[in-house]
Amino acid sequence: MDCLFCKIRDGQIPAKVIYRDEVCLGFEDINPQAPTHVLFIPLQHIATVNDITPADRQTVGHLYTAAAQLARERGHSEQGYRLVMNCNRDAGQTVFHIHLHLLAGRPLMWPPG
Ligand code: IMP
Repeated sequence: MDCLFCKIRDGQIPAKVIYRDEVCLGFEDINPQAPTHVLFIPLQHIATVNDITPADRQTVGHLYTAAAQLARERGHSEQGYRLVMNCNRDAGQTVFHIHLHLLAGRPLMWPPG
């Protein structure tokens, strides 16, 4: 399977990894859209949100707790931050291994474009 984020997970492509546990990996986005822009991926390959099954609920929830922990460590909890997962073309998904974006460190517009 030719998946960019699986390759980052396996160390075949370099990334600034800032979080890793037995379920997920967090690394800096290569093209940051905010002072903090970190992607959290499950170690397990899941292509899109459409492919999440009930068996993956804990894994997906894990991405949120890991992201919230990093947001806390970086001092973003009180000011706030955004967690977003894009699904397919209209949402702008470009890498087909689910990833939770953590965006923080500046006011974020709503609604998104
Ligand atoms: P998507 O648009 O929600 O699929 O987000 C994909 C994200 O992956 C974008 O924010 C990209 O900047 C980011 N990205 C693409 N290639 C790399 C990489 O090699 N390292 C880190 N982030 C990447």
